[in-house]
Amino acid sequence: MDISTDNCTIGVVGAGTMGSGIALAALYKGYRVILQDSFPGALEKGRDYIEKFLAKKDLSANAGLVTYAKELAALAPANIVIEAIIEDLGVKQELFRQLDQICPPPAILASNTSTLAVTAIASVVGQPGRVAGMHFFNPAPILPLVEVVRAGESAPETLAALVALAEALEKTPVVTGDTPGFIVNRVARPYYGEALRLLGEGVASFEEIDLLAEQGAGFRMGPFRLMDLIGIDINATAMLSMYEQTHGEPRYRPHFLQMQKMQAGTLGRKTGRGFYSYENSEAAVDIPELVATLQGAVLVSEGTWAPGLKDYMRKIGLEADKVTPVGLAPRAVFVAAGRDELLPEETNVYLAGTDKSLPVFVPAVDMTVAELTTLTDEPERIVGYDSLFFAGGTAVTLTASPMLTDEHRARADETVRALGKRPVWVKDSPGLVLPRIVFQLVNEAAFAHLENVGEADTIDLAMRLGVNYPKGPLAWGREFGFSKVVAELDHLYNEYREDRYRACVLLRRWARLEEVK
Ligand code: NAD
Repeated sequence: MDISTDNCTIGVVGAGTMGSGIALAALYKGYRVILQDSFPGALEKGRDYIEKFLAKKDLSANAGLVTYAKELAALAPANIVIEAIIEDLGVKQELFRQLDQICPPPAILASNTSTLAVTAIASVVGQPGRVAGMHFFNPAPILPLVEVVRAGESAPETLAALVALAEALEKTPVVTGDTPGFIVNRVARPYYGEALRLLGEGVASFEEIDLLAEQGAGFRMGPFRLMDLIGIDINATAMLSMYEQTHGEPRYRPHFLQMQKMQAGTLGRKTGRGFYSYENSEAAVDIPELVATLQGAVLVSEGTWAPGLKDYMRKIGLEADKVTPVGLAPRAVFVAAGRDELLPEETNVYLAGTDKSLPVFVPAVDMTVAELTTLTDEPERIVGYDSLFFAGGTAVTLTASPMLTDEHRARADETVRALGKRPVWVKDSPGLVLPRIVFQLVNEAAFAHLENVGEADTIDLAMRLGVNYPKGPLAWGREFGFSKVVAELDHLYNEYREDRYRACVLLRRWARLEEVK
């Protein structure tokens, strides 16, 4: 199909948030657009929005390229129709039945559905080969990703035309399989799901979880801030839809906290209140200036569970090694070994050789602190820390052993601040905050790849562009090492005994291949 602006008219059904945004994206590039919506007031709202943003870009002349229509029949001249009406299978099927008559082949019919099966929508059309998904992200004129969804019968030419159209709109298209949530909405599930469980279990507050996600792992927006922006109802409905479509996959089980917010009508920014309150202007988060002031030497044990730790210490001017340089008493003790590397004797050697007033930081990533305390003679000095995300972030997760003294706790807090990081104390819990969230993202991405939703690179690209993740989940997993991802997930699985945390078979395969190298 020729998708040049001279020969391709774009039809858009539904002039709501997405439909108006898609129409605007097409108008920016000079396409003729027919925007249809049968509900009173919808077209006017869409027109206001479109004209405002065209004017902002000095493209008001393009406003003449759009026809606003109340009747579906007006879509007859369209070569590609993109549907963006309410997320309801029956309603969408009824619309596609009518479009089948109004826009006969070779016109292409695409759906912007977020969670419904495109194959089911296509099934009502005489030639389902001309139907595929074209899933934009909100705000459509700005976000660069488009998922082109290969429904059961989608013809290669249909997919090629939609890919070409996405490129013509200066978007990056990724072709995905027609499985619940496609790539982005699926792989992102644990970001919300694990955050909600952490909150529900009282491991940390939602502000602390957001802070760790943003300043500990580099996400643009923490999960709760993001749910408030998306709309808690939209997010919860997507969760529920995926749960139902997979007949109860436990990774997608909605959390009662989001359902309660839906029932209460506190849906996020759009209602003035969600997890945060937007009724008054939001109080700025107090982020103290972080200055590295610890001087001298830091004792860091052998081990691979604290990537970049020694380099970080050296960068801020500290001697850091497993042996304290002669003449320098260690100012802090960090263990870098995980469960697979930690020998009880070794921990005790570190403890025995150091000043008793120093707290000892031990990775509490693949072991809870409760378990760690059973391995040492001095549990009153043990502070669990998120060693995996320590070096890379400015916020650091800490957790206290039940026997930790107030003095050691205060000293640990000070030490972390003096290292230029912000301490966030959370309840002792498997995988703490970031490893639990991030490694479940890696797991979900691996499942998506296993189930042919997309290539590994495609999945990573989609997550970076679609939801702005700092890294693609699979690249992230590779960077930490898949054996660590598996160890962490097995730890979660063993502690919770829930299928939700079963590690994808692909991760185990990749972990073994790492050993071969
Ligand atoms: P919306 O409620 O803002 O807009 C829907 C529009 O469709 C309304 O203007 C309504 O008048 C119109 N409409 C409803 N039924 C219609 C019908 N039978 N015929 C013609 N018009 C009809 O919704 P939205 O957020 O724009 O979502 C639209 C679609 O896009 C949904 O399938 C949704 O899942 C999907 N989507 C939404 C987002 C998002 O973040 N909002 C992102 C990607 C995809």
